[in-house]
Parts: sequence; C-alpha cells; structure tokens
Amino acid sequence: MPEELGENIEIVSTETPAEHSDFTDTMIECVECRVEFVWTAGEQAFFADKNLGNPPKRCRECKKAKTNRMEAIISAKAAGKKFIVAMPVRCEDCGKQTTVPFYPSQGRPVFCRPCFDAKNSLAAGASNNS
Ligand SMILES: [Zn+2]
Ligand SMILES: [Zn+2]
Repeated sequence: MPEELGENIEIVSTETPAEHSDFTDTMIECVECRVEFVWTAGEQAFFADKNLGNPPKRCRECKKAKTNRMEAIISAKAAGKKFIVAMPVRCEDCGKQTTVPFYPSQGRPVFCRPCFDAKNSLAAGASNNS
C-alpha cells in the first residue's frame, strides 16, 4: 500500500480568527482636523458585520467633539432654548481666528466677517459694473 494514513496529516491551526483576515489597518484622513488616523481591521470587521457602508470620516477626538455638539443641540432643543453656536474657525482669506454661528461644511472655505463682507461687496460691485 503506497498510502500512509495518519502520520503525515497536518493539523492546521485555527487560532487566528478567519473572519478578520480580509481586513487590514487603513489610514484615513480626518475630514475635520486633517490628521490621519487608523481604521483598524477589527473596526472594519465590525462595520462589515453591522452593514455600515461608509468608513468613518472623523478621528476619535473629532467624533467625540461632534457627538458633544449634537448632544448640546439636542438638550438645548429639549429645554426649549435656542442653541447658540460659536464654532472656532480660521478665516480662509486672512487666516484670522474667528467664530461662526454655524457648523461649517467640510471642504467649504470659511471667512471672518470683514472678509466675508468684502467678498460680497466685491461680487456685487463686479456684477453692477459689467
Ligand atoms: Zn480629527
Ligand atoms: Zn478674514
């Protein structure tokens, strides 16, 4: 008999969980602070498991800050108060630190009041002159 049974059978170790093998740690740039953070394989597996389609956009800190903002708005609404927003931003034009009464959309430039007014009057003036 050419076949040898038993002695050469290798037992494959199953210690590493197979369901995580498709994922590798990925670097994602936070949309708010532009700092790269790690989206770990474990978190990716969790997202896939829960059918959450989109990868996270914010780092842990910014996500926490956003959650805090949302909670502040919700509790202010619940209390019947108008929530006054004062978001610290940097003016895209002159680089000055200022605050705006709204949460700026990502990727859109934000201007301080003087620069914003200057831009608006410039645009109005240009259309008037032509
Ligand atoms: Zn961030
Ligand atoms: Zn400015």
